[in-house]
Amino acid sequence: MRIGVLALQGAFAEHIKKLDELDVESFEIRQLGDIKKPFDGLILPGGESTVMGKLLRDLELLEPLKALICDGMPVFGTCAGLLLLAKDFSGEGTPVFSSMDIKARRNAYGRQLGSFCANADFLGVGNIQMTFIRAPYIESAGADVTVLSETGGHIVAATQGKQLVTAFHPELNEGHGIHKYFLEELR
Ligand code: GLN
Repeated sequence: MRIGVLALQGAFAEHIKKLDELDVESFEIRQLGDIKKPFDGLILPGGESTVMGKLLRDLELLEPLKALICDGMPVFGTCAGLLLLAKDFSGEGTPVFSSMDIKARRNAYGRQLGSFCANADFLGVGNIQMTFIRAPYIESAGADVTVLSETGGHIVAATQGKQLVTAFHPELNEGHGIHKYFLEELR
């Protein structure tokens, strides 16, 4: 199994470290040439979704990656990665891959609560600690979307087909539960 991690910007190294710890082969996606060889899954890390969207366009990675996602390649988006996959936004935000039937609220917790931790249940994984950094949440989700976790009255993790999104950063916390959940989806 080979996982491509979008490495244009943001917290990609932490995802690669989690995959290393699970003995899963990964590689960085920085340019078009990096996705020429086949691979089995894609991780979109946290960072700044507007910057990643622009770089994806400039580097001509947007359309080929979108085609892979739409063809059913398993994809895991964390925080900014969630925003890259969202079809719709309440407030600011521009669709990028626009492949997942969720309405996201960008920078949903405002400046006062820029970063925080919470403990919440994640369906199929159990109670975990979640780190939120200028995070979005999912305001509403379509009928084909399964909600995996809610905290503070908001949806913070969901799945649709082979797409998995979390508003928080599992790559920054101890444990491998969420990465394992994603890898299970691939099998
Ligand atoms: N606020 C960022 C954005 O809008 C997301 C933050 C994150 O990925 N930690 O893209």
